[in-house]
Amino acid sequence: YGAKRERSGVEVYEASRDGNSPARLGLLGDLRGALDQGDVELHYQPKVGFDGGVVGLEALVRWTHPERGRVPPDEFIATAESSGLMPRLTEYVLETALAQVARWRDAGLTVPVAVNVSSRDVHTPGFAGAVAARLARHGVPPGSLQLEITEHAMLEDPQKAADTLAGLTGHGVRMSLDDFGTGYSSLVHLRKLPVSELKIDRSFVARLVVDAEDAEIVRCTIDLAHSLGLVVVAEGVEDDATWGRLRDMGCDAVQGWLVSAAMPAHEATAWLRARDDAPEPVAGAEPVRR
Ligand code: C2E
Ligand code: MG
Ligand code: MG
Ligand code: MG
Repeated sequence: YGAKRERSGVEVYEASRDGNSPARLGLLGDLRGALDQGDVELHYQPKVGFDGGVVGLEALVRWTHPERGRVPPDEFIATAESSGLMPRLTEYVLETALAQVARWRDAGLTVPVAVNVSSRDVHTPGFAGAVAARLARHGVPPGSLQLEITEHAMLEDPQKAADTLAGLTGHGVRMSLDDFGTGYSSLVHLRKLPVSELKIDRSFVARLVVDAEDAEIVRCTIDLAHSLGLVVVAEGVEDDATWGRLRDMGCDAVQGWLVSAAMPAHEATAWLRARDDAPEPVAGAEPVRR
């Protein structure tokens, strides 16, 4: 009850199905403990260009509860946000991701990592400076870090959030606009934001092949993003047909189960190495894409 199977076969706990707030409160206390005990880890999902080149890896938080099994981020991110636990979670994620980038670099694997940041983060004074200090401490160049933010996360105080983004890009950190199309996307807004990448939400990508309207939305979004000089990544690409349509539409990169699900660090390392050893795709030939 309250659990379903994830693709990996791991039991997934869903607090939303339990429905009662004591469950959520219990979960919250557990999350606090989990951060202390190391039950929270990061998995990494590749962003890959249509030539097969790896554009970066997105760090996604994974929490394995001792009794409840895997608790999906969607179940605890919002709770962490409203409870004041978010700064600790973000600190943990940034710290772990930057240490991993440094480890990969030392192993000869140069790859940027993307970290998701929340509303709380971009409304916290001094966040940009703290990120810059953390980069310096790990000896990681700012260009190797990308921060993903949703439009929704900027709503509370758009000016304050925009200031944080400006601070971050001022330090050389690249910004990505996540889940594009699900918020109150305004063109004026988009033009003003210091982002260099736009991620088309999975909900549009999923039905791209069967739904003409979704296809049109995706095509227009790609053109719009390009006219603003942004790199476009499509989220949640699960099949070859979708991959092909996105390539034909001029999309720059994809992320999704077709390429790879998010992997623990050691698997991601092996995945990167296998890529590294792979021969460069020959011009005109079918690109390598799995
Ligand atoms: P997101 O940043 O939009 O991440 C993409 C989500 O789609 C991830 O879910 C990923 O595992 C999933 N996904 C990737 N490829 C596919 C696919 O081909 N098909 C389908 N159906 N799903 C795919 P996940 O890991 O459960 O994360 C959900 C959301 O939780 C993320 O959405 C992000 O908003 C948030 N999140 C995850 N990690 C963190 C974190 O460290 N900090 C913060 N603040 N939020 C995080
Ligand atoms: Mg993301
Ligand atoms: Mg997203
Ligand atoms: Mg999404």
